[in-house]
Parts: sequence; C-alpha cells; structure tokens
Amino acid sequence: MKIAIVGAGLAGLTAATDLAAGGHEVALFDKARGPGGRMSTRRIETLQGTAYFDHGTQYFTVRDPGFVDQVAAWEAAGVAARWPAAGENAWVGTPGMNAIIKALAAPLDVTWQCRIAALEQTGDGWRLTHDGGNVEADAVVVAVPAEQVADLMPAGAEAWGTLAKSTISAPCWTVMAAFDTPLARAGDVLRDAGPIGWAARNSAKPGRTGPESWVIQGSPAWSAAHLEDDADAVIAALLSAFARATGESLPEPLTAQAHRWRYALSGAAGKTALWDEMLKLGLCGDWLIGPRIESAWASGRALAAVIAER
Ligand SMILES: Cc1cc2nc3c(=O)[nH]c(=O)nc-3n(C[C@H](O)[C@H](O)[C@H](O)COP(=O)(O)OP(=O)(O)OC[C@H]3O[C@@H](n4cnc5c(N)ncnc54)[C@H](O)[C@@H]3O)c2cc1C
Repeated sequence: MKIAIVGAGLAGLTAATDLAAGGHEVALFDKARGPGGRMSTRRIETLQGTAYFDHGTQYFTVRDPGFVDQVAAWEAAGVAARWPAAGENAWVGTPGMNAIIKALAAPLDVTWQCRIAALEQTGDGWRLTHDGGNVEADAVVVAVPAEQVADLMPAGAEAWGTLAKSTISAPCWTVMAAFDTPLARAGDVLRDAGPIGWAARNSAKPGRTGPESWVIQGSPAWSAAHLEDDADAVIAALLSAFARATGESLPEPLTAQAHRWRYALSGAAGKTALWDEMLKLGLCGDWLIGPRIESAWASGRALAAVIAER
C-alpha cells in the first residue's frame, strides 16, 4: 500500500519505520519546520555562543521489553544516553532530545512545513489536502495530538473524533533561559516548587555544548491558569519562582524566551492504536495510551503490527 502518515513525531515515525520495513510505500507530512514534535530542541544564539534547550520532553523512562531494545539501539547509534540526574531509569536524546526524531526521520520520506487540512475518501483511496495541493494514498495514518485529531476525521470515523476530543491534554508554559555563569546553588533538577512543575539544567544533560542553559516548566495547574498570559509575564513569574526555590540570585540572562505548549501532556484514551480495515484509516499517538514517550512509541509500533496482520 501507499500509506500517508499525518504527523512525524515519535508515534508517526515509529509506525512509518515498521510499515516501510514491511514493504509499504510510506510518506509522512508534518506541519513543523523540522524534526521534533513534542521532543523538540530549540537553539538560541547568545553572546556566548549557541544555547540549546529541550523545551518539550525532558527525559523518558523505559519499561516495555520492546522499548528497552529500541532504546539500546538508539544508544548504540549515539542518539540516546542515560541521564542519572533525573532518575535511575531516565534517558535523553543526545546531543539534543530531537536527535532521536532526526535519526528516525532521516531514511524516510518526510515533507516538513506541510499541514494536512483535510482527508477525503476517493473511489479507491484517500486524498489529503494541504496548503500547496493534494496527495493521494491507499491508506492514511493520523499521528497528531488528540486535540488535533477531530478536525481531520472524515465521515465514517466520527466516533474516533469524539474519543479524541474527550481525551484532554494538560498545557505547559516553558521558559528557556541561558546565563553567562553556572548557577552554583541549584541542583541539576528541581521538581514541584510552587508554580514550577519541573526545572532542569539543560547544559548538564549528556553531550550538550554551549552556555549554562535552563528549562523551567510551569506545573499543569499553573500553566492552565496562566495560559493566556503574555510570554514576558510568564518569564518573569517562573524565573522569580525559580530564584525563590533555589536561593539563587539570578544574573541577567543571556537570553530568556517562553514557549506555550497548549497540548503538552496527553490524557489517556484507554486504547493502544486504532485501525479500520474497511476505511484503511488508522490512529496512533501517545494520547491513546498515556502522556509518555514510551506510549507514543508503543502506539506507533502497535498500529504497524495491526496493519501487517490484516
Ligand atoms: C512540555 C512537555 C514536557 C513533556 N515531558 C515529558 C517527559 O518528561 N517524559 C515523557 O515521557 N514525555 C513527556 N512529554 C510527552 C511526550 O513529548 C509525548 O508523549 C510524545 O512526544 C508524543 O509523541 P507523538 O508522536 O504522539 O506526538 P507529537 O510529538 O506531538 O507529534 C505529532 C506531530 O504531528 C504534527 N502535526 C499536528 N497536526 C498536523 C497536521 N494537521 N498536519 C501535519 N502535521 C501535523 C506536529 O507538528 C507534530 O510534529 C512532554 C511533552 C511536552 C510538550
């Protein structure tokens, strides 16, 4: 089959890898400028060089034996490493979280900056509409966050749209700040301190280069309450909460930016992956299982296995 996959995050790329290995012709489409999804790494130029920030996923844990093997392969390829500061079973992408996504995307046919706006059934397949035109495929996989699924569901798949709409994600305001000297009083990781859900010294993760850089994330409750605040107010609030929690007297940052993730940590729909053999339409993504990297991977793998079985 010629299979079009909407969304080249970890779930879509995992499904694509397995489907391509099974002999299908796979093409992915992603609205972002480049590889990352919610495993993105942002680069910001400063007077002390390029600062790097994993501003989505901070680290991931590994439980399922299949995922253990997958992460061992990433480690052998140099794109993942343990990060003990976050826990015994904590892993990160190297040299940035997005390295895993880049490595998965490299051998595949991915079109970036291509937002799929609609799916339409044709006589014997599918037509996907994007800003620049159309793409035809025999089958379609939708691998986007739950809140973005419903708008894409065509006639016949409304129930999946309803399921996705009822699986609600938590938002996350993320501040990225770099400094010209290391912060001496803070540890590498801070959890649950007032408005802060998580903060980490990004430059202390394995394989990182560049100036002292910090990622400070609002808790889900704080981020929801301040969702429409402007970025400058969020930067001021989270930096001052960080200074209070660590006892640091913060120097003027080399850079400080904020990113609002409206759909950061997914809900859990109680499924693994969905495939309709009649429609030749499938869904995968973290939200079917729960808000973790391992879930996104497991969902993508499960969908490819179901398609292979049929
Ligand atoms: C702030 C934050 C912190 C997190 N922390 C952790 C953590 O510490 N540990 C952990 O395990 N997990 C964490 N997560 C969750 C983890 O990132 C996700 O579970 C995982 O990355 C989801 O992968 P996915 O492929 O399902 O979705 P995504 O990575 O969101 O990929 C979906 C892709 O679809 C694309 N897309 C959407 N709509 C369209 C469209 N119409 N057309 C084309 N492309 C489209 C998007 O651009 C995106 O690239 C965190 C997430 C965030 C945001």
